[in-house]
Amino acid sequence: MTLRTQVGIVGAGPAGLMLSHLLHLQGIESVILESRSREEIESTVRAGVLEHGTVQLLTELGLDARMRRECAEHHGIYLRFSGETHHLSFTEHADGRSIMLYAQHEFIKDLVAARLAAGAQIHFEAKATAVIDPESRQPRIRYLQNGAEHELRCDFLVGCDGYHSIVRPAFPADRRKELAHVYPMGWFGILVEAPPSSDELIYALHDEGFALVSTRSPTLQRMYFQCDPKDDVANWSDDRIWARFHRLLETKDGWKPKTGPIVSKSIVGMRSFVAEPMQHGRLFIAGDTAHIVPPTGAKGLTLAVADVNLLARGLDEFYRRGTTAGLDGYSEAALRRVWRAEHFSWWMTSMLHRFPGADEFQHRLQLSQLAYVCGSPAAARTLAENYVGFPMP
Ligand SMILES: Cc1cc2nc3c(=O)[nH]c(=O)nc-3n(C[C@H](O)[C@H](O)[C@H](O)COP(=O)(O)OP(=O)(O)OC[C@H]3O[C@@H](n4cnc5c(N)ncnc54)[C@H](O)[C@@H]3O)c2cc1C
Repeated sequence: MTLRTQVGIVGAGPAGLMLSHLLHLQGIESVILESRSREEIESTVRAGVLEHGTVQLLTELGLDARMRRECAEHHGIYLRFSGETHHLSFTEHADGRSIMLYAQHEFIKDLVAARLAAGAQIHFEAKATAVIDPESRQPRIRYLQNGAEHELRCDFLVGCDGYHSIVRPAFPADRRKELAHVYPMGWFGILVEAPPSSDELIYALHDEGFALVSTRSPTLQRMYFQCDPKDDVANWSDDRIWARFHRLLETKDGWKPKTGPIVSKSIVGMRSFVAEPMQHGRLFIAGDTAHIVPPTGAKGLTLAVADVNLLARGLDEFYRRGTTAGLDGYSEAALRRVWRAEHFSWWMTSMLHRFPGADEFQHRLQLSQLAYVCGSPAAARTLAENYVGFPMP
């Protein structure tokens, strides 16, 4: 079977779903192919921080009702080092802007519901397998669904299928550059059934490494500590995990995280990655397909939304006025924002982790940088304005 649409989208993550929704509001038809089931994408716990601009966009689109009821708005973060905790206020240093703690899978649920209510074509359990005629004006994507092979023919094909994309490799090898940096540490993450330990996120640097206290809901908390990326969760009993958190988060005033049943344990590697350009002819890439940031800056989800916001505008100009200026400028404009986020995420990671093999001198430099961020309004503003994010492009 061959389907036909204006914009073919591979992947129903934040990038693919948001793009499809924005196009729908502009009267442009799209079809999404998603390899996983609806249940799976709606239950995979990943990101949790929404930048100010993403929240504003969701509000303008009328997609903010459940988020407003269930999210937690944060007006700053805590930085903890040398046994002391310092508050970095966004109200003071980012002109009153804030972030929202709202789990990515809840954001996905809202978008899927809005898309299906508008009659969208989302093909779940439809795995894209090959891009056909990538150079033509009607690229096609081959996909497998219910054991049968199908094709989707479109005017434009957008890869929103994450790092292991099948769309990105369809760009000719001599026209693309992939820049990557792999960090020598990973994050050991847990989900714990407990009330929040803190009213705002705590980023901690201890002599032995990094820890983060985050949240997903009033009853479910997300916590991470730095680990060897090749470690195995099987090596970590609950007691050993809590002992690690207590040590990395210890303060002079005896603060302790709230504990409870650990319902999930995982290890993620950390890397930075950018693919340039983000367009080849009628093929586009967005979100994690085009770039990965280490999670320390909490930028992945928002970058995905910012990409497709730009791309949707370019496609609107094309279908409404027949001009390609927006599409031609997409890659350059998106990459400007991507590189700012890449730098910020690398900087936060460098400041807050113990790097294997790094000496005491390096650690003292990190502590000095943290003290500067907490003590200087200019340095605090640098962190705050990057953390809450710049206006949507
Ligand atoms: C553990 C973890 C914690 C994170 N924490 C944060 C955070 O706190 N803040 C933040 O901003 N970011 C965070 N991120 C990053 C954030 O989750 C991603 O940047 C975000 O999901 C990117 O959205 P996307 O739509 O580009 O890609 P994805 O969400 O990866 O979506 C891609 C979709 O494509 C589908 N797909 C893949 N291949 C195919 C195929 N061949 N055919 C059809 N479908 C396919 C996948 O099933 C998937 O649903 C975190 C990521 C992880 C893994």
